[in-house]
Amino acid sequence: MSAELADQVRRRRTFAIISHPDAGKTTLTEKLLLFSGAIQIAGSVKARKASRHATSDWMEIEKQRGISVASSVMQMEYRDCTINLLDTPGHQDFSEDTYRVLTAVDAALMVIDAANGVEPQTRRLLQVCRARNTPILTFVNKMDREVQEPLALMDEIERELGMTVVPFTWPVGMGKHFHGVMDLRKQQMRVFSPGEDRVAGDEEVLDGLDHPEYAQRFGMQFEQAQGEIELVREAAPEFVLEDFLAGKQTPMFFGSAVNNFGVQEVLDALVGLAPSPGPRQAIQRVVEPDEAKFSGVVFKIQANMDPAHRDRIAFLRVASGKFERGMNLKVVRSGKSLRPNSVVTFMSQKRELLDEAYAGDIIGIPNHGVLQLGDTLTEGEALQFTGLPFFAPELFRSVEVADPLKTKQLRAGLTQLGEEGAIQVFRPMAASLLLLGAVGQLQFEVVAHRLEHEYGVKARVMPARFNVARWVTCDEADGGEKELKRFIDANSHRMALDAVDAPTLLLEYAGELRAIEANWPKIKFHALREHA
Ligand code: GDP
Repeated sequence: MSAELADQVRRRRTFAIISHPDAGKTTLTEKLLLFSGAIQIAGSVKARKASRHATSDWMEIEKQRGISVASSVMQMEYRDCTINLLDTPGHQDFSEDTYRVLTAVDAALMVIDAANGVEPQTRRLLQVCRARNTPILTFVNKMDREVQEPLALMDEIERELGMTVVPFTWPVGMGKHFHGVMDLRKQQMRVFSPGEDRVAGDEEVLDGLDHPEYAQRFGMQFEQAQGEIELVREAAPEFVLEDFLAGKQTPMFFGSAVNNFGVQEVLDALVGLAPSPGPRQAIQRVVEPDEAKFSGVVFKIQANMDPAHRDRIAFLRVASGKFERGMNLKVVRSGKSLRPNSVVTFMSQKRELLDEAYAGDIIGIPNHGVLQLGDTLTEGEALQFTGLPFFAPELFRSVEVADPLKTKQLRAGLTQLGEEGAIQVFRPMAASLLLLGAVGQLQFEVVAHRLEHEYGVKARVMPARFNVARWVTCDEADGGEKELKRFIDANSHRMALDAVDAPTLLLEYAGELRAIEANWPKIKFHALREHA
């Protein structure tokens, strides 16, 4: 059994795909699925995007703005591996959701538009990856366009990432004169030909990085590439797997996703270089992925994916053991037990009933509120995984209903949306109005829209005077609960409770915070709350 478990773990690769909007994330995702054989026809990921728009009301916002709001999960088989690919919303206003998705993966694939280089949203996502030392693979896309010089790009990525870039391929030309890439490891040139219909293995491959034919055929672009490769050889260090796994080096690939070019190399690198699931830290102990007993953590909740069904799916990353349909699980936070029968997996974008899952896999558990963000599920052991981040909101609104008779629906709707992580909901201690906190402005619009369409509540969202929030705690050594209570009592006019009743200080100005911190040296003020 444990040999089988170890083998299943070894075969798993779980990664997120991150980029700034429009860099080509959707296109590359689709091509990865195509090249792994998970789908037959290109265009189905886009089609799915479109049909989701058609069936899901609140996605209207997404459609209008042309951004991807919700993140999703796909599973595919490639060579002898099972790959779990987690999509991340590109728009910065949804970065909270993205941050949590990044806690569920073992590696990230970063897509960069070669014309634009490292863009703001990519930068923010990278910071999260860096903070967690997540290994990153880099795909430089759109080489079929007039783009930045590859050496300049490499430099920029290196600076922005704060990690060493090791090119695995190098482009020959760009735009109209894009001739292909040199595979610096296999010592081959892969010749570019445009077209969306090509499949794995049908591109022209020439042996060797230098060949009399090259100069003739590829002209000055070849000569330039040759010079650059020489430079890179001298300047870039050798690829060291341990450094990549520690998030210190990133292998870089060039290609054109829309033309199916360079996709195969990325898939091979994911399987060959990216790590299989490792141990995960719980408060009580470290949990190994091939332990016999099942455990997992909820990192995302999405309600009403299908408005007709009012379903609510908790996305859980398996941390250890083997999940089997119908098994008895314990929600450690509440002590409640759960026997999910209709657990779903996400094979090649279709939701399918799942029979078994292993560490690294993502499973979806339909439920009616029993599961919350950050929940740990086990076969009985009291374990609580750490590291699911909540960020102190930077924008605040107060909210009330147009029709006072709907106050109950408003509270119910906001509680659910809060549990889903779409917004943070605060209950001020000295007032009855609810406060909403967000990292991005768009979150308020989505919440107002969803309240109306999913809960039948027309809400008035109004400016609130707060601009800063900090969760407050006090260590035992500094007086613990007693000192904390003293602080809360003295500041009750600006204290609130969040969704899990954690006390939160709300302020108008950052300057006030400095004064309060100076006056209350025993109190800790947190901009980030990890679910515990
Ligand atoms: P996302 O927002 O990151 O998911 O980006 P999409 O995959 O939707 O791509 C954005 C646009 O760039 C689309 O119009 C794609 O067709 C286009 N695109 C994607 N890859 C390439 C490429 O390699 N070359 C060119 N010229 N366009 C591309």
